[in-house]
Amino acid sequence: MPNKTTPVCSFIDGSWVEGTGALTSHMNPAAPDKAVTTYRPAGSAELAQAIEAAAAAAPAWDALGIVARGRLLAAAAVLIRERAEEIAQVMTAENGKTLAESRMEVAASADTFDYHAASARNSIGVEFPSSHPEERILTVRRPLGVVGVITPWNFPLQIPAWKIAPALLQGNTVVWKSASNTPGVSVLLMNILNDAGISAGVTNLLLAPGSIGSELVSHPLIAGVTFTGSVPVGQHIRAIVCGRGAKLQLELGGHNASIVLPDADVELAASSVVNAAMGSTGQKCTATRRIILVGDGHEAFLESVKNKVSSLVLGPGTDASVQIGPVVSRSAQDEIMSAISEAIAEGGEILAQAAMPPTAGFYVPPTVLVGPQSMTICKEEVFGPVVTVLRAATLIEAIDLANSTQFGLTAAVFTSDERSARLCVTHLDAGLVKVNAPSTGSEIHAPFGGMKDSTFAGPREQNSGATAAFFTHEKTAYLRLAPARV
Ligand code: NAD
Repeated sequence: MPNKTTPVCSFIDGSWVEGTGALTSHMNPAAPDKAVTTYRPAGSAELAQAIEAAAAAAPAWDALGIVARGRLLAAAAVLIRERAEEIAQVMTAENGKTLAESRMEVAASADTFDYHAASARNSIGVEFPSSHPEERILTVRRPLGVVGVITPWNFPLQIPAWKIAPALLQGNTVVWKSASNTPGVSVLLMNILNDAGISAGVTNLLLAPGSIGSELVSHPLIAGVTFTGSVPVGQHIRAIVCGRGAKLQLELGGHNASIVLPDADVELAASSVVNAAMGSTGQKCTATRRIILVGDGHEAFLESVKNKVSSLVLGPGTDASVQIGPVVSRSAQDEIMSAISEAIAEGGEILAQAAMPPTAGFYVPPTVLVGPQSMTICKEEVFGPVVTVLRAATLIEAIDLANSTQFGLTAAVFTSDERSARLCVTHLDAGLVKVNAPSTGSEIHAPFGGMKDSTFAGPREQNSGATAAFFTHEKTAYLRLAPARV
């Protein structure tokens, strides 16, 4: 339970509503005998109520106007900051990430609300000249209506903030199905939106399994769906939502490469790839999964990576000396450990591995493998602290290797040569390319989105001014209001 006053329930039409599903518990990944949150999931009846409430609330929310909606988002940002420590503690207890990582996520989420609040005063359209001197041609944006939001557990506050804040700003109402592993954090955000003064029905939260997500995206009143999660679930949603012609935004998995050239700054490259592969226990869509070394050698780089990884400290995220928390669940731990075993059976070798902590928990040792690209782990996304080192003779070969998966989310290159950096920016199949920086991390005011199976071809970017393109319909108005002067 997040606190004594907020129940762990769905939130529908301004009220906390207990679901009708069987009592479900999520265990603390650092103390697997302790349930952090226990709740009854919502079912089809609660889903229908939430969609009806959101549809009923839509006209008044639209009529409020964008500046007033922006003020409410700013109020939510203030409350996120006021309650930051409580949210961070619940996030660490549910997700396993370290408190330092949780605190950073909470701060970034408050910034996200502030960013969209401030955007309320940006230009909302453009004016074109007309062939008729007395006419004005203007673009206007109209909300989609009710938007379905489905989010994963790995950034349980930041990803919902990326979606819900711009959806609300643009005048949509929201039905949000949050991740089953992090219900407590979603309840705290819901409470904040309510306390900020957002009226009943405008945002509704369902604590529910994936099957209810599937029903949500199938509903004819859901005019747009924004989803972040795995490729298989994203493709299932794509078939449904495109089939009925609603708007869709997908932010899916990645298999991100970091290319290291012989002219790279060795320490910068080593610390960046370790940080990008192991930070948040490797549970970032943007994490580096493959390190591609161009040319022979790189002994100093590999030595530095080995030293850094083998000295990483694992343990409960509440311990300030810990750098790597547990993974989110026992099933995640089992999947990652068996992917490492499979890689070894397929010809991989362990180059470096951190020590396991003495305490019980869903721990996976940060692991660096060497082996061929043909290993399953180099093609499928393994969502944990594991990275594989590959070799390429030339930069062009390295780019081809980096591009040889179904994914296209992020990539990084480490070099001191501008031409090599430009080649990578141009030719890597990735929506975000970093030069001399980790493949992880993005800024709220710059577009973020993938290519290939990591996304959906449409107005895909999260963040920045691009959100308006997804969360609205753009219309063009030809206005002849004044008589022509004679
Ligand atoms: P997931 O796809 O299993 O679940 C995501 C959400 O979808 C959850 O809320 C889940 O309950 C719901 N869901 C499950 N089945 C569904 C169905 N049939 N219909 C509708 N909804 C359904 O992903 P996860 O394990 O929660 O998150 C990890 C994945 O998310 C990784 O693949 C990671 O790369 C990806 N991710 C991508 C980004 C990005 O911005 N591209 C960011 C974070 C995470």
